[in-house]
Parts: sequence; structure tokens; C-alpha cells
Amino acid sequence: MASRALASLAALVAVLAACQPQDSRPDVLVVVADSLAASHVGSHGYARPTTPGFDAFAAQCVRFDSAYSAAAWTLPSVASLFTSQPQERHGARNDELPLRANLPTLAEAFTAGGWNTHAIVQTPVLASRTGLSRGFEEYRVLDFSLASFARAIELARQTFDASSAPDFVYLHVAPPHMPYIPPEPFRGRFSAESEGSAHVDGSIASARAVHRAKLAPEHPDVQRLVALYDEHIAYVDQALAQLVAQLRAAPRDRELVIVWTSDHGEAFMEHGEQGHNSSVYDEMVRVPLAISAPGAAPRVVQEPVSLLDLAPTLIESMGLAPLPRAEGRSLAPALRGEALDASREIVTTSRHYPQKPERWKVGVRSGPFKLCATPATQGFALFDLCTDPRELVDISESQPQVVARLRGEVERVVRALEAPELPRELDDSERRALAELGYADER
Ligand SMILES: [Zn+2]
Repeated sequence: MASRALASLAALVAVLAACQPQDSRPDVLVVVADSLAASHVGSHGYARPTTPGFDAFAAQCVRFDSAYSAAAWTLPSVASLFTSQPQERHGARNDELPLRANLPTLAEAFTAGGWNTHAIVQTPVLASRTGLSRGFEEYRVLDFSLASFARAIELARQTFDASSAPDFVYLHVAPPHMPYIPPEPFRGRFSAESEGSAHVDGSIASARAVHRAKLAPEHPDVQRLVALYDEHIAYVDQALAQLVAQLRAAPRDRELVIVWTSDHGEAFMEHGEQGHNSSVYDEMVRVPLAISAPGAAPRVVQEPVSLLDLAPTLIESMGLAPLPRAEGRSLAPALRGEALDASREIVTTSRHYPQKPERWKVGVRSGPFKLCATPATQGFALFDLCTDPRELVDISESQPQVVARLRGEVERVVRALEAPELPRELDDSERRALAELGYADER
């Protein structure tokens, strides 16, 4: 009798095992090319062939035409990507201020969901002391060198090879961040025909000299710097396209989701600035964003979106526990082909220098409009990006209601920044969601 019962039990176990659903959790790669301005990307209409790799990738997936970084420089932008919180709430506003300890992160959500979580960041700006490593099982910080760029890409490729559980990989590579000094055969590809001074060599010193000289964007020296930046873009584009091709060609037993974006843009004197950090005009905060996901038909999304939306999007798509207090919204409807609310306000901010508040800028995009404000001086200008994509003509006098609405949003941001350390009461659903991620009640 006993042996018959055991045989029945074994048969039942076999049936139950056969009924277990297959592990459908995909591998996920989020790749960020530092300082890649959307305005220098082919699929955004740029004339030079800087990004054939991104363009071919984007043509096969969902590309967001008006994607904004939450901040104009690396640390707060990536902190926003990881937490779906703007810099006035996540706290990582400058190198001395780490990410607030009570904020759940995207990596924690993936780790809690059973993914192996890895970050490979090729910039000391994102060192572990910033708190951005929280939630990752592996967090590797590499230096800015070209050798480390190649190594970062190879590490990402090997990570997907190595494990049987699903992987979440955040890969942040330094190029095309300055200095704009790519290797052969990219070096000279666009700059060889430049009429600018040979002193403009793509080094940080030469970029600063261009900025200090207050040159017009059409000046040959500025155009030479642009050509060098574009060569650097072509260099990173080819390497990332190769990585994507290798990952897709490799044998795998699960689907692969790929997000390709940047942490902010780069300016070339369009509004008197060079580089990033300092403004909220589109050249500094509008980024490429394309998402390849199973079942997402290729399309271009025109509605403005924020990188604050990325964490909610991945979390909804993977069925993970939502990040409490997320300010972004999930773009999963757009991946399904549905329309997004085009009038939603998208906020972006420049670098905040505590000792120089007058330098802090806040941008608010809503529909075709964008308000660029300097809160400390009450200065502002309104642009219609449909008719004036270069943000040259201030139309604030003819649109007082739009100005009033968007200035209200700026005031909200200012109030949040002025009271950064005030804790906010959690509601019950937020507390539950935090508990699911392993957080104790931290009131
Ligand atoms: Zn950056």
C-alpha cells in the first residue's frame, strides 16, 4: 500500500511540475550613453550620420521623440531614473548629497522580483557613495578612459552570458561625454573639413575656451567642436549597436528588453552655453529614448515624456511592485500602441548650486509649450516648440494663461527644493508597497 501511495504521490508531483509556468521574466538592459543630445541623433532629424546604430535599433522598437531628462547633469538625472523622483525629492543634487536612504529604487524592485541586478557605470560621478548603488547585487564603477569604455561593454555582454536567472543590467558609458576625443577611424570623420582653429581639439580645456569666448553657434570654432562631439557620438553608437547585435544573436532562453537613452544632452552655444549642467533648453535636456520589448510594435511616440517615467514603465511591464511615491507615469500604454496624455507637464532642472541659487533653472514642457524659468530672479520665457524648436522666440506675452499654469508648476518645484528634508507621511498603500520591498516603516 505504502509503495502504491508513494507512486501516486510521485505521479502527482510530476503533474504539478509539468503545470508550473515557464519562467517568462525577460533579461533587461538599460543603456545610457552619457551626454547624448537628441538633437544630434539621426532619427531626430540630425543631418550628419552620427547614429546609424541607434536609428536602426529605434526603427524596430518604440521611440520617444520628446523625451526629457529630469536634470541637466549626470547625478540627479540618473538618481531620477532609478527612483522616479525629481532632484528636489531624491536629494542627490550635488556631489555631497547622496540619494535619500528611504527612497526605494528600480534595482531594489528588480532584485526583489528575482532578477540578478548589475550596474556597470563608467563614471565616478555615480560612485557608490552617492547611494545609487543601493539595490544592485553588483555595482562596478569604471574610469572615464576609452579602454574602460570597451571593458564596460564587454562586461555587460558577459553578464548576460553568465547566469541562468534573468538579469537586469544598467550600463552607463562615458562617451560621448567630453573630452570629445574618439579613436581612429572616427577621429577626423567630421572635423577634417572643419575651418575652425586646430586648437579646438575636443579637450575639456578647448571646450571651455569656446565657452569663455562667447562665440556664436555658427562660429567655425564652435562648429569644429560640434564635429568632434559628433565623431565621439559615432564611436559610441557603433559600439553599442554591436553590443545589441551580439546580445540578440546569442542563444538565450528568455526574451530581452532593451532601453537605449542618455542622461542629458549637450549644448554648443545655442543659448550661450557649452556642455551641460547649466540650462534647461532642449539641447541640454532632450534625450533619445527607444525601448525594445516583446510585443511592442515599432512606432514613434510624439507625446512628451520624462526619464522619471522609465522606472514605472519597466516595473509595470515586469509585474513588479510599484515604487511608492513615483512621480513618473508608466509608458507601458505607449508600448501597447495607446496614446499618452500629451498635455502632462514634464519638469526638468539645471544643476543646483547651493551658493549660487540665481543659476538654477527650471523648465516645464506641456504640449507644444515650454517655459524656461530662473526662479531666483523671477525670469521666464515661453516657447512653442512646434513652430520654434530652437527656443528663440519668447511668446509669453501672447499666452498669459499658459504662462500662469506653468509658472505654478515652477513654484511647486521651488517649494519642494526649499523644504527638502521634511519627511512626508506615507499612506497605507505606500507603506504596504514599501514593506513588499523589504522596507520597515521609516516614519
Ligand atoms: Zn551625464
